[in-house]
Amino acid sequence: MKNFTTKTEFKPGTVWLAGAGPGDPGLLTLHTLHAMESADVIVFDALVSDAILDLAPERTPREFAGKRGGKPSYKQVDISLRIIQLARQGKRVLRLKGGDPFVFGRGGEEAAALVSAGIPFRVIPGITSGIGGLAYAGIPLTHRDTNQAVTLVTGHDATGNVSQINWKAISDGSPVIVIYMAMKHIERIVQELQNAGRPTNEPMAFVCNASMPNQTVLETTLGTCLEDVKKSNIKPPSVVVVGEVVNLRQGLDWLGAENGKLLINNIHSRIVEKQTG
Ligand code: SAH
Repeated sequence: MKNFTTKTEFKPGTVWLAGAGPGDPGLLTLHTLHAMESADVIVFDALVSDAILDLAPERTPREFAGKRGGKPSYKQVDISLRIIQLARQGKRVLRLKGGDPFVFGRGGEEAAALVSAGIPFRVIPGITSGIGGLAYAGIPLTHRDTNQAVTLVTGHDATGNVSQINWKAISDGSPVIVIYMAMKHIERIVQELQNAGRPTNEPMAFVCNASMPNQTVLETTLGTCLEDVKKSNIKPPSVVVVGEVVNLRQGLDWLGAENGKLLINNIHSRIVEKQTG
């Protein structure tokens, strides 16, 4: 491995597959920022915020490749062909994706297409919404008092149908479940979790537009969430978390505290008390 540098040379004719994090530009990595400053073209997804794109020089061309406002989404194969084409023109191509490119982001598919085409590439990980987005809601992914495991799942598969995963196994084995792309099939997912034995009073949270100025958090339970979502303005993009870690938010919602919310200062002992009865 070469010496570390945050200014790795972005060579013409190469593609960098980079994560932009959940939305707050402050969550970009130095590598991604450097890539934005040196790219000849940026091919970005719908989940990359304008505040992030604004960090690129004004002269840098940007191409949108994603889903927006119900219009048909760009086909994955077209996106891969486009970045290959741009690289073959000798451009430094930055493929910028929301969150982390390798977490439910099709980064693996694009990387594989680049390998087949013989295009050199780099991957720059990003902060995934299922971790960073929850942190912005004051919900830690793990806490020693609540869970020693966590599972990240997607609500639907490549065909758009509800994920064909073993919900029972995940429910039994994972005290905390983080669900990406949950909104489309939320009723079915809630049903699967309840059928698998997760209690109706299990804490659950929906974090919508995580880390953005319009972030909204809905704290609810498995039993009441469908009704609560209907009443709320929660919509995609939302990351959903099921499990006791949600209760920690009452003590750890640092963003809320910045806006005057009073935090419970003994959240740790409350959880321990609850567990020991
Ligand atoms: N690669 C991305 C995930 C892409 S899949 C990542 O690592 O985060 C798209 C899903 O990600 C959305 O349906 C939503 O569940 C979640 N998501 C991405 N950005 C989000 C944000 N700012 N707020 C809430 N959820 C987000």
